[in-house]
Amino acid sequence: MPVSAFAAKSAESPLAPLSIERREPLEQDVEIDILYCGVCHSDLHIARNEWGGTTYPVVPGHEILGRVTRVGSKVKRFKAGDLAAVGCMVDSCRSCESCKEDLEQFCLKGAVFTYNSEDKHSGGMTYGGYSTGVVVDEAFTLKVPENLDPARAAPLLCAGITTYSPLRRWGAGKGKKVGVVGLGGLGHMGVKFAHALGAHTVLFTTSEGKVADAKRLGADEVVISKDADQMAAHAASFDMILDTVSADHDLNAYLNLLKLDGTLVLVGVPPNPQPVGVFGLLMPRRQIAGSLIGGIAETQEMLDFCGKHKIECDIELIKMQQINEAYERMLKSDVKYRFVIDMASLKG
Ligand code: NAP
Ligand code: ZN
Ligand code: ZN
Repeated sequence: MPVSAFAAKSAESPLAPLSIERREPLEQDVEIDILYCGVCHSDLHIARNEWGGTTYPVVPGHEILGRVTRVGSKVKRFKAGDLAAVGCMVDSCRSCESCKEDLEQFCLKGAVFTYNSEDKHSGGMTYGGYSTGVVVDEAFTLKVPENLDPARAAPLLCAGITTYSPLRRWGAGKGKKVGVVGLGGLGHMGVKFAHALGAHTVLFTTSEGKVADAKRLGADEVVISKDADQMAAHAASFDMILDTVSADHDLNAYLNLLKLDGTLVLVGVPPNPQPVGVFGLLMPRRQIAGSLIGGIAETQEMLDFCGKHKIECDIELIKMQQINEAYERMLKSDVKYRFVIDMASLKG
């Protein structure tokens, strides 16, 4: 069935309206009327082919939240009228070692991402949440706690899980000093989670105007990363630093702030390689790691954690038609702190 969407037709063209096809729900499928979709910096990277590998037209959007309209005959956990959410993945093989460990994002046969992946059903490419409706397998559809505001919950589906997962894995919690680099969509959730997990939380920002917000969001300290003296005051003191920066920047400056066996976890994906001085890794022994979103079970755990602690995203609600302007503002780090598209604007 046809649904309205916004798509980029080339790396250079702005996003514009496009009608796309969604499959009729199969027996295991959930059909969702999309209410809100968050705007992730990955949407911009992929719309503009900054990582290579984009197939056009591309319909971005992987922070999807809506109401179930229909379900297939074998669906057990959802019924029409329920709130439902979809994140960065819509399928995987479900039988490889990674899938069996609930790490579908690392499926050895290749996870099917929500957009710009091969669609097993239609044969074309998957289309994301900048659209009025989507049909997704129940196994990749998430339950949203009813006490959360739906618009403010949508970005949890990527910005939330991408920061929650590494903070849990590398043990952010009481007695730990945790840094978060960049106060954007991911970063502001990193600060909220690190604080909620009980870590001493330090936010690094290039934007002096974000200091007060960072403290309100849960940072115990804020460092202006361009100020060498402020950086030096934290030398060799962090257990973990979570780097969410989307553009080229100096990783070595953050490596130097890790204590023995501390870890710099990269989640931001600058389009270019970032040089690392090896001495910074040796003296004292330190590590650099990466992390990619989180599995479906962990995403549900994160949503439930947010329901329990009433953790929501700080958002600016926009109309679908404002997406190109939103991308330009995102490039200037001028988002407080996630754009969320009100999909009513596309339903007319
Ligand atoms: P965002 O909202 O644009 O935030 C990025 C932040 O990085 C900015 O707010 C800014 O923070 C800082 N920044 C930007 N340019 C900078 C520069 N030149 N030097 C230093 N700092 C700079 O983006 P996002 O949606 O949070 O995504 C961040 C990155 O994570 C993107 O590359 C995205 O593709 C990636 N990502 C990865 C995963 C994963 O699974 N690993 C998932 C989602 C997104 P300040 O103003 O505070 O300095
Ligand atoms: Zn994302
Ligand atoms: Zn698999």
